[in-house]
Amino acid sequence: MSERKADKAKDFSQWFDSVLEQAQLIDSRYGVKGFVVYRANAMRICKRIYEMLESQLEANGHQQVLFPLLIPFSSFRKETEHIKGFEDQVFIIGEAGGEELDEKLVLRPTSETAIYPMYSLWLRSYQDLPFKFYQSVAVYRRETKATRPLLRGREFLWIETHDVFPTAEGARLQVQEDLEMSKKVFDQLGLAFLVAEREEFDRFPGADSSYAYDALLPDGHVLQIGTTHFLGQHFTGTYDVSFLDAAGQKEIPYSTCFGPGVSRILAAVVATHGDNNGLVLPFGLSEYDVVVVPILYKGVEEKVTAKAKEIANSLSKKGYSVFLDDSDLTPGKKYFRWETKGVPVRIEIGQREVEQGNVTIFRRDTKKRTLVKEDEVEASIEQLRKDILEELRNRAWSTLKERLVTVKDRDSMIASSASLVIMKSPFCGARECADSIKEATGGYEVRGRGLDDQGKPEGGCVWCGRPAARTVYLAKAF
Ligand SMILES: [Zn+2]
Repeated sequence: MSERKADKAKDFSQWFDSVLEQAQLIDSRYGVKGFVVYRANAMRICKRIYEMLESQLEANGHQQVLFPLLIPFSSFRKETEHIKGFEDQVFIIGEAGGEELDEKLVLRPTSETAIYPMYSLWLRSYQDLPFKFYQSVAVYRRETKATRPLLRGREFLWIETHDVFPTAEGARLQVQEDLEMSKKVFDQLGLAFLVAEREEFDRFPGADSSYAYDALLPDGHVLQIGTTHFLGQHFTGTYDVSFLDAAGQKEIPYSTCFGPGVSRILAAVVATHGDNNGLVLPFGLSEYDVVVVPILYKGVEEKVTAKAKEIANSLSKKGYSVFLDDSDLTPGKKYFRWETKGVPVRIEIGQREVEQGNVTIFRRDTKKRTLVKEDEVEASIEQLRKDILEELRNRAWSTLKERLVTVKDRDSMIASSASLVIMKSPFCGARECADSIKEATGGYEVRGRGLDDQGKPEGGCVWCGRPAARTVYLAKAF
């Protein structure tokens, strides 16, 4: 355990690491750079995030598959643009059982090059389409920037969908569906986010268009937590994926991929909602929704314990995940323990509560205590289930909006960059401009055009003054 108490507002980085440790989410002492152990408290939340995403995908007609971790080097090498984007990041196995392999094997950094050769065997007729498959796996990239638990690892958890459609329009609609699914899930997690179409120079290697979600970290950096890409006919063409249309003509289909990053979504949940006492979570993500703490004094133990059990049982029957903490720790230590882990609601029951026929309800998100009549406990908990998520979501959005500023000229851009705001500016679309901005502002990146911002802005590019093509977000990315 860290001895020093970290302050989220003053030192996000230290605070984040100490929460991961104290809430027993991640152990980073594994001993391989960029690889960490996800402990039970982290995997519980990851599992829930997976369930949310998978249920959306399946409701939209996707089916789960599992492709091998290893990709033959010859297949990986086939899509030249794609390999250019990943070649300096892949782990390659060249030996097994003490012998050199005939063909080297790549640990999947993403699975297009594993999946498309099989799609070319599976696809025959237009009647086979669409293909809508996903897998929930870990991927491996040798990140060259400093690795950080959950935020940037060389192994991370995600979902990847690989969809194929007979027409470009079908594939474009899929990208819309991906964006809607992501939004629904991020809403359920109380996250605020920017959604933007990445600039041409910032697309996924091999994509015709790329869209991404960025969450805001408390220190002002943004964190990409999911992407969806329209791949056109790049991969289907390269890997000989084709079909016969209704007239018997051979056609090349269009494809998409969608990659919500589960490790980073968990990081965003921890970073966005947590406070100096530890994790703050909505119902459904924490180990328990409600913890009942009896406050025992000599002479009233029996009555207090009986009432605590009764309340815990009645809430369990209603479907909440409830824990009665009747351990012999002091009430203060119990409060600390469950607050660190982010349990959204605590019910405290002592002598006064027994005598007066009520209970004290503590909300983790606002740290407020309320006295509630015994027969109103269930209704209060149900209300809190909604209110806590709403409170977290509102806070996240107001923090994001407070950080958003419109900047229209070079001088204001340089001045604003010092305070780590997110900027919205007219932009010409040129890579040289983006590179020059990055250099002059200590790392600000063009994150792309906001999807709610489709019109052409008036006036010139914030940097070069040439006619602006669109309004874009600029931020420092983690
Ligand atoms: Zn420009």
